[in-house]
Amino acid sequence: MKVGFIGLGRMGAGMAANLLKAGHEVTVYNRSPEKTRPLLDKGAQAAAHVSDACQGVAVLTMLADDGAVGSVVFSEDGILRHLAKGAIHISSSTISVSLSERLAAVHEKAGQGFIAAPVFGRPDAATAGELLIIAAGAHSAIDIVNPLFEAIGQKTFVVSDKPEKANLVKLSGNFLIASVFEAVGEAMTLVEKGDIDRRQYLDIMTFTLFNAPVYKNYGGLIADRKFEPAGFSAPLGQKDIRLALAAAESLRVPMPLASLLRDRFLTLMAHGGEKLDWSAIGCIPANDAGIIDS
Ligand code: NAP
Repeated sequence: MKVGFIGLGRMGAGMAANLLKAGHEVTVYNRSPEKTRPLLDKGAQAAAHVSDACQGVAVLTMLADDGAVGSVVFSEDGILRHLAKGAIHISSSTISVSLSERLAAVHEKAGQGFIAAPVFGRPDAATAGELLIIAAGAHSAIDIVNPLFEAIGQKTFVVSDKPEKANLVKLSGNFLIASVFEAVGEAMTLVEKGDIDRRQYLDIMTFTLFNAPVYKNYGGLIADRKFEPAGFSAPLGQKDIRLALAAAESLRVPMPLASLLRDRFLTLMAHGGEKLDWSAIGCIPANDAGIIDS
């Protein structure tokens, strides 16, 4: 399938590479053009402008946040003006429910399709083609782009014909993950101050009651205090809690734990955490308890 791919960051680079590997004809665009080089070496075509990546059946965007997606869609050279009628914009970025709603409306008005397809999985899963895709949009459009989903993910969950519902599910999932950082951080701090080794503690918990990747993988990062290089940067995690709270406000859903996580991210940023993985908020309980790591 002839497709465009916009946004070759930690996630997008692996996703675009897997589209090429599956035999799709991929034209790639990135704001910082040097990131296109490894993809060109794998057979991608270079797009000098966003519009050059809008010439196929679909264009996939994997950009940082609402601002980035908005600029790529709404600019003079953007997707909205240059995607053909009947072609489909697939948005995989974790963006707000409200922007997704707006994108669905403007693309529909322009005669284009719009699918929200945010993903779960870190850059290693993106590279391995093992993302979990939460998709929403018109079923006819999802059927057309399903071969693309098969190339980048291990499973696609179609949750609604309204694109923004996929973003709501994704944001709620990231809230759940971040709440694990807080819970693990507090529990580990408790046992560590009682002279139990935190790594051994994590092994016990993940072997028994909490035998799930989110506890094992992120718990390991928190136990080892290993937050660089960031797989998912703290500013992007902060963005997701902010967007979950915005969705909660509009649906009138109190989320006291999300409010606490918002403050945890503010604390991390106030202490220079921009470059760290988002799981670094799991160390704040230890700092609060006076544990100084050597
Ligand atoms: P990233 O490594 O920071 O990459 C961000 C991408 O967005 C880069 O291509 C960047 O271009 C581009 N970008 C940023 N601002 C832009 C702007 N104003 N105009 C045009 N392009 C802009 O982020 P990532 O980790 O790949 O995450 C991408 C999306 O996936 C985010 O929405 C994130 O929440 C979501 N996500 C991430 C993970 C993860 O574990 N990393 C997992 C699931 C979902 P430059 O190269 O020029 O900076």
